Amino acid sequence: MTNHIAVIKGDGIGPEIVTEAMKVLDRVAEVFGHTFEYEQLLMGGCSIDAYGEPLTDDTIAACKRADAVLMGSIGGNTTTSPWYKLPAHLRPEAGLLKLRKSLGLFANLRPCVLYPELRRACTLREDISEQGFDMLIMRELTGGLYFGERHTEPVDGVMTAVDTLKYDENEIRRIAIKAFEVAMKRRRKVTSVDKANVLDTSRLWRKVVEEVAKDYPEVTLEHALVDSTAMQIVRAPAQFDVMVTENMFGDILSDEAAMVTGSLGMLPSASLNETKFGLYEPSGGSAPDIAGKDIANPIAAILSGAMLLRYSLDMQAEADAVEAAVKQVLADGYRTGDIMSEGCTRVGCAEMGTLIAERVKKGA
Ligand code: NAD
Repeated sequence: MTNHIAVIKGDGIGPEIVTEAMKVLDRVAEVFGHTFEYEQLLMGGCSIDAYGEPLTDDTIAACKRADAVLMGSIGGNTTTSPWYKLPAHLRPEAGLLKLRKSLGLFANLRPCVLYPELRRACTLREDISEQGFDMLIMRELTGGLYFGERHTEPVDGVMTAVDTLKYDENEIRRIAIKAFEVAMKRRRKVTSVDKANVLDTSRLWRKVVEEVAKDYPEVTLEHALVDSTAMQIVRAPAQFDVMVTENMFGDILSDEAAMVTGSLGMLPSASLNETKFGLYEPSGGSAPDIAGKDIANPIAAILSGAMLLRYSLDMQAEADAVEAAVKQVLADGYRTGDIMSEGCTRVGCAEMGTLIAERVKKGA
């Protein structure tokens, strides 16, 4: 069977790191006997240069035809790049927001893993980092405060701004189901994060999550308030498996959790819709400061490829093989500059991709 993967390499380091992710996927195809067919598409700054807009209708249609989308990152230097002199709706990031919306991607998954070999990069105290952690933050991506009605106007002569936070039970149910489904493939624990002591949306969130939990008796559910969760992420991150939360809380907590791993170039992400379709991309940006130098870390892009295999193509063994190859390359002492430490061997982006591809094998 042939799987069709739409590929958006994007801007900055995007083309370099996605090339390495494709190298590893090609190796998976070879080892496991699959055929992956790629369709390369433009989005972001490179699409502005080619077509005058960050995302064309043809690109959206091609993504919809594919089984999944593998993406690098988009955008340039926001102070110097001419892309940022354009009106907001024609800038690179507008393309990404439009693509997420057009594809109905409502669930954003960000695994935050502290690899034993990279403990020294962790910003937490040693007694905490020694325990390691492996959590996945599932953030609702298309509702809540960022998409509610907003306006700024004078009220009784005082300039006043209003943002609206709204969730309906269907929006909550579909992301809760995703969280429990993902937890079933992991350590079977869900932490639902809200602010139910204050917000009505959070009280509805809690109620609906509890209803969904009844269909997953093997999964342990706990509720936590967002402020205390922010503390727990730095105090005892090992306690978390899958964390599910609304858009703004997820935005903040996922950056916090990413930061404590200490290495942005290691973290993949997935955005899913109601089917198995998803868009897979590194959590970091296009890093224009290091683009074109063969020094970017391709591991986040390679692990995004592993998530694509796991969630869109249902290839668990293949995804395990990629993740094991990444762990092996770290255990063998290879590092890109961003995660370099004493006694390790420094390699470039392309060599890191080759070393990981070489370590992909069956039965990992
Ligand atoms: P960034 O994530 O691109 O870079 C932050 C720092 O991390 C830089 O020092 C960079 O060199 C480093 N870094 C990031 N990824 C790395 C990797 N794989 N290997 C080694 N080092 C890495 O964030 P920024 O500088 O704030 O943003 C740059 C551009 O990226 C902006 O145009 C921004 O809008 C865009 N951006 C895009 C996405 C996306 O495509 N989803 C996400 C975030 C930012």
